Amino acid sequence: RRILLIGSGGREHALPWKLSQSASVEHVYVFPGNGDTVQTEKISNVVDESIAPTAPSLMVLRDIFVREAAELEGSKTYAKDFMRKYKIPTAGFQNFDLGVAADLELAKDYIKTVYHNVVIKASGLVAGKGVVLPSSDKEACEELDSFANGRFGDSGRSVVVEEYLEGDEISVLTFSDGKSFKSLPPGQDHKRIFNGNTGPNTGGMGVYAPTTFTILKPTFKGLRAEGRTFRGLLFTGIMITRSGPKVIEYNVRFGGPETQTMMPLLSQNTDLAAVLLACTQGTLKDAHLGVRSGYACNVVISSAGYPRPYSAGKPIRLDSIPSPNIHIFHAGTKLIGDVLQNDGGRVFSVAAYGDSLEDAVKRAYQGVKAINFEGMHFRTDIASRYAVC
Ligand code: ATP
Repeated sequence: RRILLIGSGGREHALPWKLSQSASVEHVYVFPGNGDTVQTEKISNVVDESIAPTAPSLMVLRDIFVREAAELEGSKTYAKDFMRKYKIPTAGFQNFDLGVAADLELAKDYIKTVYHNVVIKASGLVAGKGVVLPSSDKEACEELDSFANGRFGDSGRSVVVEEYLEGDEISVLTFSDGKSFKSLPPGQDHKRIFNGNTGPNTGGMGVYAPTTFTILKPTFKGLRAEGRTFRGLLFTGIMITRSGPKVIEYNVRFGGPETQTMMPLLSQNTDLAAVLLACTQGTLKDAHLGVRSGYACNVVISSAGYPRPYSAGKPIRLDSIPSPNIHIFHAGTKLIGDVLQNDGGRVFSVAAYGDSLEDAVKRAYQGVKAINFEGMHFRTDIASRYAVC
């Protein structure tokens, strides 16, 4: 088998790393890849110059997949209505179209009826982060006004207003072939840029796994009932609240940095390519998806400034990695000649496996020491609430 993987993040380094271990896989091509997806003879980046006529068609291909990727991720109002219909636990909510003056007033009235703070989310894809977490009713009403006034463009006027959930956030990656499903152990992301969960929200600074949990049966059943049978990998973001787990969001694809943690956690004899193929062929039940008994952890290294505008183009020194259980997955890196440079907000994911969570964490931070570039930042407290190092 030859596999084409589209993307350039840390996820698109962790996936080919695991896929290339499958005996059935001849080669994994990554488009466009990053500074070091060329790490074994079985993985190579599809370099623009070598496929100049093909590059635009690959872009089209990617767009098609994104479009086909279902409203479950693309429309938050759809996802919330879906969860309500199939009784999937989620934050109490109402959807509004703030382009309509009456709806704006209704939204403000609704805020007053919610006992907790609220979260306001633009329904579709918007420029910038379309999720705000106001700290008072007054602030929430001001936010609603700014959504209504087009702060996130026209599509940002369709919003979900939902109750703020207090708790620990976990995420679950689940394979499905439309008939059955298999989940990987839940992982826990660390969203804020600084230690102690402070500073602005990011795309995720590090993940550990596993914790325990299930919620997915009604999701796949509901999708089937809606005529949207799901075949592939579903990411579910969940808040563990005092009144039980509640879904925050679905993504219809592998999530990062969760994927970078999960790949080293898959057992050696798990053929990821075979699992993914089984998803498309309705044979997932018979596919082997084995998880190692220990723990995995990954620490994200970001550029100075991230998640705000960051400085790129700094040369990176990479020392050799001290253990086969430590994996440096590249994300925002670029090879200019033979100099590796940072080229994105999140630059590396350093993932490690260990028999205990403490071992995994220690190893991940050992791996971090192998990386050096000006302004590099990482949290020093990944999993520290749970690991005793
Ligand atoms: P992502 O980039 O994570 O996919 P998104 O734009 O799809 O984000 P959400 O996942 O819905 O938006 O929300 C982003 C983050 O905001 C969540 O990961 C969570 O930390 C926080 N959040 C969202 N909804 C709630 C809620 N109801 N209560 C508390 N926190 C929330």
